[in-house]
Amino acid sequence: MKRHYSHGGPVTAGLALAMFAAAGTSVLAAQQDFSQVQVEATHVAGPVYMLVGAGGNIAVSSGPDGALMVDDQFAPLADKIRAALQEIGQSEAAADLKFLLNTHFHGDHTGGNADFGTESTIIAHTNVRERLSTPQDRGGNVTPAAPPEALPVITFDESVNVHVNGERIIAIHVPRGHTDGDAVIHFTGSNVIHMGDLFFVGRFPFVDLGAGGSVEGLQDGIAEGLSVLPEDIQIIPGHGPLSDMDDLREYKRMLDETIGLVREQMDAGATVEQVVERGPGDEWEGWGQGFINAERWLQTIYQSLSDENDADYGPVDPDHGAGPGHSHDHEHEKGGSNHP
Ligand SMILES: [Zn+2]
Repeated sequence: MKRHYSHGGPVTAGLALAMFAAAGTSVLAAQQDFSQVQVEATHVAGPVYMLVGAGGNIAVSSGPDGALMVDDQFAPLADKIRAALQEIGQSEAAADLKFLLNTHFHGDHTGGNADFGTESTIIAHTNVRERLSTPQDRGGNVTPAAPPEALPVITFDESVNVHVNGERIIAIHVPRGHTDGDAVIHFTGSNVIHMGDLFFVGRFPFVDLGAGGSVEGLQDGIAEGLSVLPEDIQIIPGHGPLSDMDDLREYKRMLDETIGLVREQMDAGATVEQVVERGPGDEWEGWGQGFINAERWLQTIYQSLSDENDADYGPVDPDHGAGPGHSHDHEHEKGGSNHP
């Protein structure tokens, strides 16, 4: 049952709190004054633009077939986002939103779904719909189910193509990364990719272990991206400025080195406190300036690797009555397609 993920396994109170604080963007959003936020558009390539306001970065394809948007930040910004679509659209038709893709379910990427869902077709991974349509419990902080109009109406398990404005736009599921429902959106003709929260530029990432994320899954997903994407592709990260393959390589090196460092210490029997004490290594200290500081990142790695080990050695969480072979990997392979 995918419900399994929302409990997140055996997480220490301290870590749960850290995760909550890190992931609490929707909580912050509730307190944030959006009247001061500007939504600014930058041309990236061909029909593709990047919109920056508050919350996750947005990508837009705007042209004769209308607009396709990737993510939608927060509900109070919907009118400013519409104004930005008008500004970049060269005609009424080009500003007309037809499709909305979600890179994952988090509120700083899907907050506008209820607004835009009434005027466009929302497309996302199966697990995004599953999580948006059920209450999500994060360390006791429950996000209620989204209204029906906010839910994706087209869902996919592996990938889906949308053909608009002269190019094929493909959404590809990356298993077990930031969450269990991440997709990267590749504008194949314009040579641009939106990587959602799988990629934070120059900052430690947030891996939502309670929502099926995994540091090793993230590491694998980024390695895969680096091996298949064209060298001159432009990359829109979930948060941070427009980036390129050098930035992604640097990010992968950080993942490899910090995860490797924690694994080494765990193999030698270190506690999470000792791992935090040692730190991520001098080179990566500065990556803790975003909403995940070094301590949280190291705790997340430790917890994620512990979960993987538990999966290898059998069930540890009595709540779920798991049998042998019941692991996050195994759960994931089912792809969630058997859930309503
Ligand atoms: Zn996110």
